[in-house]
Amino acid sequence: MTLPKSTAELRALDAAHHLHPFSDMKALNEEGSRIVVKAEGVWLTDSDGNRILDGMSGLWCVNVGYGREEIVEAVAAQLRELPYYNTFFKTTHRPAIELSAKLAELTPPQFNKVFFTGSGSESNDTVIKLVRRFFQIKEKPEKKIIISRRNAYHGSTVAAGSLGGMAPMHGQSAVIPDILHIAQPYFWGEARQGETPEEFGLRTARALEATIDAMGEDRIAAFIAEPIQGAGGVIIPPASYWPEVARICRERDILFISDEVICGFGRTGNWFGCETFGTEPDILVMAKGITSGYMPLGGVMVADRVAEVLLEGGDFNHGYTYSGHPAACAAALANLAIMQREDLVGRVANDVGPYLKARWSALAEHPLVGEAPMTGLVGALELTPDKAGRTKFPDVGKAGTLARDFSFKNNLVMRAVRDRLIIAPPLIISHEECDELVARVRKTLDETFAELKRWGWV
Ligand code: PMP
Repeated sequence: MTLPKSTAELRALDAAHHLHPFSDMKALNEEGSRIVVKAEGVWLTDSDGNRILDGMSGLWCVNVGYGREEIVEAVAAQLRELPYYNTFFKTTHRPAIELSAKLAELTPPQFNKVFFTGSGSESNDTVIKLVRRFFQIKEKPEKKIIISRRNAYHGSTVAAGSLGGMAPMHGQSAVIPDILHIAQPYFWGEARQGETPEEFGLRTARALEATIDAMGEDRIAAFIAEPIQGAGGVIIPPASYWPEVARICRERDILFISDEVICGFGRTGNWFGCETFGTEPDILVMAKGITSGYMPLGGVMVADRVAEVLLEGGDFNHGYTYSGHPAACAAALANLAIMQREDLVGRVANDVGPYLKARWSALAEHPLVGEAPMTGLVGALELTPDKAGRTKFPDVGKAGTLARDFSFKNNLVMRAVRDRLIIAPPLIISHEECDELVARVRKTLDETFAELKRWGWV
């Protein structure tokens, strides 16, 4: 079958046959999707020839940018040599071995072992089983509750969706038991009037302590959190939050799981977000940036103190056909080689990160923007009708969607979560491209402000 070429024909086929993730398909089919046909660096091209600045690195994953021949070649070579073999039944292969060793080298010192998966969701499903198995082996099977946070995102399978704290997801599917959700460190949205960020950070962290103590330490297995909540709206916790969480975890016999699916692989200016915030996880969850999205791959790093126990427990009855897929591991190895050779992590910490942050922070002066936080190359803009009162718009999400649509029209990919705009551009973005990104954001904000004025909302 020869594929139709025109945008209209492709859209019609898409509407007829394709169900998109997290989408209102009836509304989308009426409007029609944008069809992305190719990409280079930080730029996407759509089927109408528009060049679009990808401020989101795809879905927070294309850290080394698009068009990296080196990764393409590595995958092609691997597919020719050994396109597939599993890592079940006493077998393994070179790409999985080499990538495991590489990850042991790049992650913090307590991590020397990895379990491969195909995605972030599969990684978090793995984590739930791993954590419960750990305490079974330690003969504490009643320690099985995992504490997570409201508005956390840990994936979309039944178990990972349960672990996450997204109410709209829980509303559409049953959640699994023994998961509790506590407050998130979202200062703008949830602090009391008069409370300082410092006080709020401590109070929110101590919700963890209070929950563990109320339930009983003998029932709590673990606490899971993203260093910065990504899909929840790029919630960067106040400086007091993570040290207090680290203290609470240290003082109790629970495992701390850092979900680094977004924050891992350079996003925050270190290899991993836990290094940026000074926490010492027992389990580290990865996906996305591990291959820069060129191939699907995820992994769960297990600290030595956890691995020692698991190794005493006999079979771990869990695994995926594509755990450690050779071509995905080859993509990861090539991707990580680029990151190291080009010192992309150092670039985020010392060069392009501070460069973009200076310009991003200045957006807080716009009348529509309440706060403009950024860490490394991940940032947010909180839209508000009244900065001083940290007031929300009447119909939460409408102003954000309006801004997101203007951004779309301005050929900038920026996401909206409630009334919060978020960006996470590829780590290779140049200074000039940062300027262009900020210029498009300013235009978007001005257009949004003018429209909200017409609505009488500002
Ligand atoms: N954890 C976090 C922190 C994520 O941001 C995501 C995806 N955005 C996931 C897990 C799930 O990953 P995936 O979509 O690869 O299943």
